[in-house]
Amino acid sequence: MNEQESKPSGSNPKETNSKQARLFIISAPSGGGKTTLSKALLNRFNDILYSVSYTTRPPRKGERNGVDYYFTQKKDFEKKIESGHWAEWAEVHGNYYGTSAGFIDRGLASGRDILLDIDVQGTLKILENYPDSVTIFIMPPSLETLRKRLEMRRTESRGTIKRRLLTAEKEMVQKDLYRYVIVNDQLPVSIETLIAIIEKYRYPNKPEKCLK
Ligand code: ADP
Ligand code: 5GP
Repeated sequence: MNEQESKPSGSNPKETNSKQARLFIISAPSGGGKTTLSKALLNRFNDILYSVSYTTRPPRKGERNGVDYYFTQKKDFEKKIESGHWAEWAEVHGNYYGTSAGFIDRGLASGRDILLDIDVQGTLKILENYPDSVTIFIMPPSLETLRKRLEMRRTESRGTIKRRLLTAEKEMVQKDLYRYVIVNDQLPVSIETLIAIIEKYRYPNKPEKCLK
């Protein structure tokens, strides 16, 4: 685990409530393992809310509306940009992705921690308004491993994989903007590392696990 000092920026930070409900933000290049790790985390902490993002990209095989994403039309998404619906939004790989501001504010107000799986642009935007957010970047062991994992997932065409790998290189350069970086090599180790980070914030009095 690599802890780094986060440098939140921006003015007018929103207050979190007295129970210190927090946002945990996970980012990774496509295929880096954030879905797998997020699922493991939510299994371990079933009281953490998951912020289901909205996207204009078509669903992949097996993805469910309202569970993996809210799949939405470009026109509707753009209307919601104008009405200030999004806590953050970004264009990623040619599609829109966004986080509902209402969901985040209601969740925090009710004292619930929330997990967000968003990209680097979105993370920086969220940090402007929620500077206490705990940010975690998941790195693949190498670009070659990332390519293999994307191919093995069998959800993307060759062209899409190529595009995602190009974006991955740009995203990985920005890992130092995050408070923690986990190199996702052995999955069980990555899951334990992630859980240990979250526990550090949720149970500050619990002795920290010794991680290699
Ligand atoms: P993301 O959500 O970041 O796009 P996924 O969680 O879908 O990535 O992971 C991409 C693929 O890699 C999936 O098929 C997943 O099962 C696999 N995977 C994730 N982490 C590991 C790991 N540590 N070792 C081997 N395979 C992994
Ligand atoms: P995918 O299409 O592979 O599910 O996601 C592509 C990228 O979009 C990933 O980097 C993912 O983290 C990011 N993403 C998913 N939801 C959001 C969101 O609500 N906001 C932003 N900014 N990025 C998102």
